[in-house]
Amino acid sequence: MVDMLLIRNVEVYGSIVDVRLKGGLISEIAPNLEGIADIDGQGGALLPGLHDHHIHLNATAAAMNSVRCGPPEVLTKTNLIEALNKPGEGWLRGVGYHHSVAGEIDRDWLDANGPDRSVRIQHRSGRLWILNSRAMDELGLSKPKNGRLYDSDNLIRRSGFPGLKPLIKRLHAYGITGVTEVTPSNEHAEFRHYLKHETDLNLSIMGKAELTSLTDPRRGHLKLHYHDHNLPALEALADEIKAAHESDRAIAAHCVTRAELMLTLAAIEEAGTLSGDRIEHAAIADEAAIEWMQRLDVIVVTQPNFITEREAAYAKDVPLSDHANLWRLKSFSDAGLALAAGSDAPFGDPNPWAAMAAAVNRPEGFGQDEAITPEDALELYTKPADDAGGEARKVIVGEPADLILLDRSWRDARVDLGGVTVKRSYF
Ligand SMILES: [Zn+2]
Repeated sequence: MVDMLLIRNVEVYGSIVDVRLKGGLISEIAPNLEGIADIDGQGGALLPGLHDHHIHLNATAAAMNSVRCGPPEVLTKTNLIEALNKPGEGWLRGVGYHHSVAGEIDRDWLDANGPDRSVRIQHRSGRLWILNSRAMDELGLSKPKNGRLYDSDNLIRRSGFPGLKPLIKRLHAYGITGVTEVTPSNEHAEFRHYLKHETDLNLSIMGKAELTSLTDPRRGHLKLHYHDHNLPALEALADEIKAAHESDRAIAAHCVTRAELMLTLAAIEEAGTLSGDRIEHAAIADEAAIEWMQRLDVIVVTQPNFITEREAAYAKDVPLSDHANLWRLKSFSDAGLALAAGSDAPFGDPNPWAAMAAAVNRPEGFGQDEAITPEDALELYTKPADDAGGEARKVIVGEPADLILLDRSWRDARVDLGGVTVKRSYF
């Protein structure tokens, strides 16, 4: 918490002013405040600290020590073999694999083409690990024979949780001062692990139903994580939602495909919406889906980064007729849906500035009319930690001293969001 600080010469909503922070709050904003300046902001914009509303902390921290195995860095079988066989020792952990690189690779493929180390490669979906024979032996696994393990993170986890410090340092460098941790398998052990960093980040922590009984204000939504291949019956899903709501806990439902979204909306309709209920991703949404989400008054938490990061794969895999329905933004806000954004790291790039740039400049052929203004893009990342559907936080007297200082004015930043550097964070 910032005890006392005078920041001189910063831009707040277009005016050059001084800002005093006192007791963790913004206490004064005016030109020429009395006192000795602690910092000269050199005219840079002072903004609320950014919040990543959808991130997987442990997986992102682990990915930082991993080899990329998919687009955009690795595009072909030759690239992949090269990436896997770089010198190294101990376990090799690959991430971001996509079948466009070398097809549905398996244990035999890795044995033939990978290094003589234990290898595990995660598919971009996050659900599938592909292991070589040494890795299977080391984990004492004899099945499945092809080394392709779905939804088996518990088997794979070998040595506790990864350290989060390097990741948090990187998030701070982006100006991220808070995150919503959304991993569906979060239990009490994970909750305690994340809370070790409560002074580094504003936290909201989603997870399993067993967290519902926690009274800690940082306990977040019940995360529902069903996919096309294992969709529950409508009644069962509605019951799960009702049970959370009865304990006054909102839900956040993973909805990437059309079927996932339709089933979830039907279940919410059946259970009734609780304020704060969230649809995660809403990757494909047609007009009927938008109208339904609006009627149910759910919050959408989207990833503006994916349309740019995955453009090549979408061009290949998604039917042309659906390109305009991918990762919509302007249609959502025009419909009055409460909207926030997160990176979905490690599956997306955690850099919020690249994501804001992608929200403002969408690739040709992918709903360019879904682009939003730089100001609206910024708001997606400045909603409160515990309320992705709320009003964006503001730099005004009385608000928490949760602020970031840019290397340039907002007028210069808004035309080149991807080029912004965050000089400091205060919180
Ligand atoms: Zn996610």
